Amino acid sequence: MRHIIALISISLCLAGCKNEKKNTSEEPIADAKVENTEVNTGDEYAGIQDLQIMPISHATAVFKWGDQVFYTDPVGGASAFEGKPAADFVLVTDIHGDHMNAETLQALNLGDTKIIVPKAVQEKLPSELNSNLIVMNNGESKEHMGFNIRAIPMYNLPQSQDAMHVKGRGNGYVIEKNGKRLYISGDTEDIPEMRNLKNIDVALVSMNLPYTMPVDQAADGVLAFQPKKVIPYHYRGKDGFADVEKFKQLVNEGNKDIEVELLDWYPEKDSK
Ligand SMILES: [Zn+2]
Repeated sequence: MRHIIALISISLCLAGCKNEKKNTSEEPIADAKVENTEVNTGDEYAGIQDLQIMPISHATAVFKWGDQVFYTDPVGGASAFEGKPAADFVLVTDIHGDHMNAETLQALNLGDTKIIVPKAVQEKLPSELNSNLIVMNNGESKEHMGFNIRAIPMYNLPQSQDAMHVKGRGNGYVIEKNGKRLYISGDTEDIPEMRNLKNIDVALVSMNLPYTMPVDQAADGVLAFQPKKVIPYHYRGKDGFADVEKFKQLVNEGNKDIEVELLDWYPEKDSK
């Protein structure tokens, strides 16, 4: 009984504290975790528990999901991947230099590791890499290394033939394993194919001008498909970095249940 009273008074104190402070979201979240430690083991976790995301730079990352490792848009030479686990497969989203780099793909000594690419990327890569390539077009899906991989359109709005990203050329990807789904947007605006995504656990969403979209548009797109967790990436624009703190604020004002995780995608800027 004394135990119950103690719990009640702690709860009252916490409720009081919450009322006094505005917008201190960290404390109530921490409280909720403490109260639910015994039941809050899997489903409540925002994101994918066995997925580790290692940003390299801008659009380039290493993912370790369970025992498998994949790279997205590897550029920057083999030295950019020093100390990282070797890739079981590679995803390339588009033809631009911040996504596709033949020298890096060759320097990584991939052996027979598969590189999943849109057709436009295949056409630009040297023929020596041809046996590594798996071509996927928008809307196609494939089982590979225990993952289901689906190619999602990525393009600028309004659509036009002279847009930097023309619909049909590049691929975003949804990667699924054990019912968990990771979305990598590629260079896109908040197209209907993004807004209509369902059951995304972790989303990497690009936001930079003039290439993709501003942070308010990115936030609006994210609020439409409501991933459990969103990570801004590819946010260096022509005139500097997008305001990812602002993006986080906009997403959480619209839906506080979406976790916005800010990772350091530009370590080079910190070392200067
Ligand atoms: Zn790009």
